[in-house]
Amino acid sequence: MCSRFLLATLFMPLLALAADPVASGPAFDASTVDRSANPCVDFYQYACGKWIAQHPLPSDRSRYARFTEVSERNEKVLLDILERAALAKVVTGSPLQKLGDEFASCMDTATINQKGIAPLKAELERIGAIAGHSDIFDETVRLQLIGVPAFFLFDSQPDYKNSNRTVANIQQGGLSLPDRDYYLKTDPKSVEIRQRYVEHVAKMLQLAGEPAEAAKTHAQMVLDMETILARNSTDRVSMRDPLKRYHMMKRAELAELVHFDWDAYFAAMHAPDFESLNVSNPDFLKGMAAGIVDQPMETFRAYLTFHLLRRFADLLPEAFEKENFEFWERYLTGAREPRPRQFRCVMAVDRGLGDLLGQKYIDTAFGPDAKRQITELVDQLDKALGQDIQTLGWMTEDTRKAALTKLAAITNNVGYPKKWRDYSAVTIARDDYLGNSMQMAEAARQRDLDKIGKPTDKTEWNMTTPTVNAFYSPPLNSINFPAGILQLPFFDPHRDMALNYGAIGTVIGHEMTHGFDDEGRKFDGDGNLRDWWTPADGAAFEKRAACIADEYSGFTAVDDLKLNGKLTLGENTADNGGARVAYMAMENALNGKGATIDGYTPEQRFFLGFAQVWCQNQSPQEARQRAITDPHSPGLFRTIGTVENMPEFQKAFSCKSGQPMVSANACRVW
Ligand SMILES: [Zn+2]
Repeated sequence: MCSRFLLATLFMPLLALAADPVASGPAFDASTVDRSANPCVDFYQYACGKWIAQHPLPSDRSRYARFTEVSERNEKVLLDILERAALAKVVTGSPLQKLGDEFASCMDTATINQKGIAPLKAELERIGAIAGHSDIFDETVRLQLIGVPAFFLFDSQPDYKNSNRTVANIQQGGLSLPDRDYYLKTDPKSVEIRQRYVEHVAKMLQLAGEPAEAAKTHAQMVLDMETILARNSTDRVSMRDPLKRYHMMKRAELAELVHFDWDAYFAAMHAPDFESLNVSNPDFLKGMAAGIVDQPMETFRAYLTFHLLRRFADLLPEAFEKENFEFWERYLTGAREPRPRQFRCVMAVDRGLGDLLGQKYIDTAFGPDAKRQITELVDQLDKALGQDIQTLGWMTEDTRKAALTKLAAITNNVGYPKKWRDYSAVTIARDDYLGNSMQMAEAARQRDLDKIGKPTDKTEWNMTTPTVNAFYSPPLNSINFPAGILQLPFFDPHRDMALNYGAIGTVIGHEMTHGFDDEGRKFDGDGNLRDWWTPADGAAFEKRAACIADEYSGFTAVDDLKLNGKLTLGENTADNGGARVAYMAMENALNGKGATIDGYTPEQRFFLGFAQVWCQNQSPQEARQRAITDPHSPGLFRTIGTVENMPEFQKAFSCKSGQPMVSANACRVW
């Protein structure tokens, strides 16, 4: 449960899952191109127009993208693994038993409906009996232990300034809506969302047995409590700055900051002993404590009750699940129906027992051939980025040398982790879906807290193997490509190489560039937060990064809502750098000898391969939510925002200055 601000991913939704990987795939298919569009006027339409027209949003999705296609293929592979496991005769406690029974417990809606709210009864009664601050303390601990994120988050993370050791970390949290802005903004849409939210909270409380009038009063109290937390929360853009979330302090200093029995808290959370810890947001803790201390007991009871229900709503009877869907999916994102249950159950197993499932997945779906090819590709990209750093005009020698040292120190992880997580502490029962979930959450928390005070395990992954995503970790200085993404349309060992460079090549380049984006550049090759830039080079970087921030701030996400160029800066920098570096690697490999296929040069196919992984359809609601919360730009702007900065693109398609895909003010960092 590594801090969520530590990972720079390829895209946001950590949708799990993967497919049959080394299937022989098609060569370049010119029929996918929309020739009625002009690539120099709208390259996204040219590359993605046909796909977009052929893939309208299915009713169970608020976004459907090329990533989703891969996920769906992968989900089927995992579903097959889990259905077989559920039927197999196995030894209790074995990996197959855990996988099969967890899946079966999720599918067994008859048992779930028959139990009703009973699995949460004891917890609800404890919350209902809260009469003073010591009861609130006890219950907050209990809820945090079973994975309910009440008030704030407590976990472990590498010490930013000494990444070889892992320290305790406290971070802001405790909200339900996707961002603090949802609580604080006063525009009509935000006001409407809050009204609908209060109605939803009231319905959930009623389902748990509260009379209608009391539920209404309590729902407003939940919003009031969360608004206090939101008011004291640091905004997302500031949270991207590692210096703003690094505040190491002694336990005594923490006790000084907020008068709370921290010793008792850490002991109750079963944390190992430690002397100092990081407090990501001292102002949040202080402001929150001052803001909530005088709240009536009834408000605390309402807040904790709702957070318990929200955390487990999808594991409760149909009525809870349905109400949860109505607000969080249908209203907030625009999906019209839930995903089929078997696939939601696949995801639940991936979340809870990801490394057990990942091992089975690897057995059927990731070969040594793919691993070797990707490893080679990573080496080529590595050389290309080195070349790029060596020739950058804006960087002086000292910084250049340090940058090359950092590049050489990046660890490349391909396919799956060296060490799989151990789940021996978890017992899985076939008839206890909710109990299983609580146990898995407790075990995950304990595994995470046990790392406090220990040397950092730099081989660790924070993403499951079948996931269609990739990430860079600044303190580990590692790039990681789960087997789940090493699939078409990203990669196929047998297809046209120009497409592979354009697609998985730019993904690899993207993750490498994260080591040198506005956040990554603040960490050195050992993963330590340290300024290795000369002041002049630092200023030159900031100036170039500001160009990218301005460029993307000009794009409209939905209606009158623009993208936030500062929130998406790291990802956009990585997209731009990744495309350039992958292109260089391809040109190195071709050495002037690329063949034209169906009238398309390798350079043109490279850009088509790049753009075609970003084709997507999404609802306006989803676009709005992501514009506020997602550090990644939508597919359209990931594509055109990048190519309009690249003379290589303009040359490949013979674009002229003044055309839309030729920026008059082209930005370039890397
Ligand atoms: Zn990224």
